[in-house]
Amino acid sequence: MLLKHQAQKDISLYINGEFTKSISGTMFNNVNPFTNEVINQVAEGRSGDIEQAVKAAKQAFVEGPWKTMKVKKRLAYINRIADLIDEEVENIAYLESLDTGLPISQTRKMVSRASENFRFYARMVESRLVGETYQVDDEFINYTIHQPVGVAGLITPWNAPFMLETWKVAPALATGNTVVLKPAELSPLTANKLAEIIHKAELPKGVFNIVHGFGETAGAALVKHPDVTLISFTGETITGSTIMKNGADTLKRFSMELGGKSPIIVFDDADLDRALDACVWGIYSFNGERCTANSRLFLHENIKEKFIAALKQRVANIKVGDPLAEETQVGPLIHKEHWEKVKGYLEIAKEEGAEVITGEIPASLQKGNFVSPTIILNVDNNMRVAQEEIFGPVLTVLTFKEEADVIKMANDVKYGLAGYVWTNDIKRGHRVAHQVDSGMLWVNAQNVRDLRTPFGGSKHSGIGREGGHYSFEFYTEQKIIHVAIGEHHIPQFGK
Ligand code: NAD
Repeated sequence: MLLKHQAQKDISLYINGEFTKSISGTMFNNVNPFTNEVINQVAEGRSGDIEQAVKAAKQAFVEGPWKTMKVKKRLAYINRIADLIDEEVENIAYLESLDTGLPISQTRKMVSRASENFRFYARMVESRLVGETYQVDDEFINYTIHQPVGVAGLITPWNAPFMLETWKVAPALATGNTVVLKPAELSPLTANKLAEIIHKAELPKGVFNIVHGFGETAGAALVKHPDVTLISFTGETITGSTIMKNGADTLKRFSMELGGKSPIIVFDDADLDRALDACVWGIYSFNGERCTANSRLFLHENIKEKFIAALKQRVANIKVGDPLAEETQVGPLIHKEHWEKVKGYLEIAKEEGAEVITGEIPASLQKGNFVSPTIILNVDNNMRVAQEEIFGPVLTVLTFKEEADVIKMANDVKYGLAGYVWTNDIKRGHRVAHQVDSGMLWVNAQNVRDLRTPFGGSKHSGIGREGGHYSFEFYTEQKIIHVAIGEHHIPQFGK
């Protein structure tokens, strides 16, 4: 049964346990990327609303029971949120697809991952939020403890909204911080659902707050606020750098998850069928709006003709369509402006002398922001389409002869988020993985994540790591306590 594109009720802010209008009363339109019709209106928070949300979060942190309650009790809340998400997977997946254009078959999996984010961090806090002790002869026992940091400002993008919001909210709350979330203005529906769920889970007032609104106003006010201790940001590299400048005066602690232009390197001894599956999924899933997308394919000269022929066939068969239809593999891009940007890159590619292979969008889909899955051939590594993040269903293809050359080309880019290597030579697999500059590498694999492992990028793709116990370094303050257990020497000035 095909789900319908239906208008939704308007969305408020969520501050101090209450759904509320913005101070100015201003609303902005939230648009469906499949029809370009308005889905609903969203309360536009600005600096005054951020002020109220931060005040509530600070009060809940300083006075409230959240950071001081027994850990078991706090984690019971976290698990309750996970249960409530699971009860609504279908509905949340529907809202996510309606809002973002991501195919429903993919948003369902993202929502399941979102509840696992909460369960996972409940388990991690219980089992891994542990300190260390350092015995110093018979004189001292030194030990570390972890304490929550304070008010966490979380700023998220639109490309996998619910999954990325929960990826930050879960560790922030589980470790005892209070939260102000500023979700992307282009995808507010499921963020609002998260507020409803947290409300239903009856977290103490002020522990979790949402301010919808634009980056330059609501987001910037959150970053500059002196009572916000840390900012976890996921989004474009250029926004990350603006945020770091804006947060400098208040000495913010930052986690930065930024853009990518990740290579997939296929050697001539690889399992080509599996490499092809992984390559096609890795760039065209999530409509190509995926930070870890393998947007640069490097093919060994010996296999390029065979691989490109198979690639063309597969790409031509990808099912483009209504994001709410079960069979859809690629849906419309988030917004007209982003659609124009991605289409613009196809023109740039032609101007630069590359060959653009793309399909026609049928008349029935003309209202939506569709870009047909595209392959760009005859690419030189210096071209803009090989260097810049396009963030759409567009794959650039390059070729190589020697291992050393492909490593050089793979690294000759400002980003360093992910990388994928395909070869059946075990030594080469490790060797290349070690040499490609990126935070995360997969060998003979698509992007399968183990939540215990560190997630993050190098170079212009990010600063810091989240995931597993790595998130604790960011979301908690580690304190060292030195305890004298003997009669150590104390200088006796003035005696
Ligand atoms: P964006 O940078 O435009 O916006 C992200 C968020 O930042 C939004 O909520 C926006 O309102 C806010 N924002 C914008 N300007 C701000 C400012 N001056 N101060 C505070 N907040 C501000 O990013 P986007 O277009 O929503 O997302 C796509 C980008 O995100 C891509 O570059 C993608 O690679 C990246 N991304 C990275 C990861 C990762 O883990 N590394 C994951 C997903 C997406």
